[in-house]
Amino acid sequence: MNQTSSSVRAVINSKGVARLQGGHPWIFKSDVVQVEQASHGDVVQVLSQKGTKLGMAFYSATSQITLRMLGGASIEVGPAFFRSRIEEALARRKGWMEGRDAYRVVFAESDRLPSIIIDRYGSHAVIQTLSAAAERWKGVLAETLREVLGLASVTERNDAPARQHEDLPLISQVCLGTPAFPVVIHEGGLQFEVDPLEGQKTGFYLDQAQNRVNLTPWLKGRVLDAFCYQGGFACHVARHADEVLAVDASASMLAIARRNADLNNLGNITFHEANIFDHLHELHRRVERFDGIILDPPAFVRARATLEAGIRGYKEINLRAVKLLKPGGFLITSSCSQNLKEEMLLDLLTEVSQDTGRPMTILQKCGQPPDHPVLLTFPESYYLKTLLLRVD
Ligand code: SAH
Repeated sequence: MNQTSSSVRAVINSKGVARLQGGHPWIFKSDVVQVEQASHGDVVQVLSQKGTKLGMAFYSATSQITLRMLGGASIEVGPAFFRSRIEEALARRKGWMEGRDAYRVVFAESDRLPSIIIDRYGSHAVIQTLSAAAERWKGVLAETLREVLGLASVTERNDAPARQHEDLPLISQVCLGTPAFPVVIHEGGLQFEVDPLEGQKTGFYLDQAQNRVNLTPWLKGRVLDAFCYQGGFACHVARHADEVLAVDASASMLAIARRNADLNNLGNITFHEANIFDHLHELHRRVERFDGIILDPPAFVRARATLEAGIRGYKEINLRAVKLLKPGGFLITSSCSQNLKEEMLLDLLTEVSQDTGRPMTILQKCGQPPDHPVLLTFPESYYLKTLLLRVD
């Protein structure tokens, strides 16, 4: 851990300065003119070419994102700094946290803790440190979380591929304490098992919590949850629908989904393991029809280079879903691809409506919940788009 001495610094060009003035917290390699005495993962002082102090940043020697701003030039980066940033993040979530035992505590740049994600599941936290500098402070973060939140354990889910840009290993392990996984968490009156070492991401898709609760009451009758994961949407919708078909390609996730259905005494869900691209086709061939369909796929567009293929994937599943819906049916459709802009999603859904001749109306446009805040000057923080549509 470096002490942030003023000799450890990075000088950026005027394009970089303008970027910071516009509120974006990243400086790319191409805008860094000079780096003095800094090693990969240090905290550095950022200066303009005129020598103006612009603030402190995490430095990466390997990533295209060389600097991630932490704040003004006067901040001292140490345990007290991380503690106050975590406390600020908690204060911002005060209303949201009430009555919840699972939520995102820190959403990286949006909470002024770049490249750091912290999720809470009951008395356990899961952290992701996605840059070399954040990695160095992992122990401090874990200890601070234990103190501030009174936690029993902290686990790292550092198997996110983004870590490879920082030359960091992909690892998942308990950092502190002795957790008893799975943890049972509560959401909208239901219970869910979460195993932070087994599930995807940090264990649970907290970003859809609000949409699972708020949108599922619209879906009645016979409902299909097409990418059901551990049964989040399926369990919520099962309380309103007559019967639910929940499909996922992963047998291990379906096993947890079944346990979640049992935990909530929901006997009207049928689980099925299949590749949904094939299965939507098969359902159509069998002339099966639904009153409601939920599409919450994984990110089809992981990089700009795969945008076209991703758009084709989104269009295909939505097209097939619309064909399976009865007139007057409801579709909950999502994209968590940051690179797929909201307009692109609306455009492809417009094409689906035109291609099928089915009038489609948007009843609700939903984004991320308050514990995944979008920083307007950092569009990278806006990734989740969820729509409720009526399909006539
Ligand atoms: N809706 C869920 C999260 C879905 S995550 C929730 O709210 O909790 C995406 C899921 O899609 C994962 O469980 C993954 O196993 C599944 N998946 C990915 N590709 C698939 C495919 N081709 N067919 C079926 N399921 C798929």
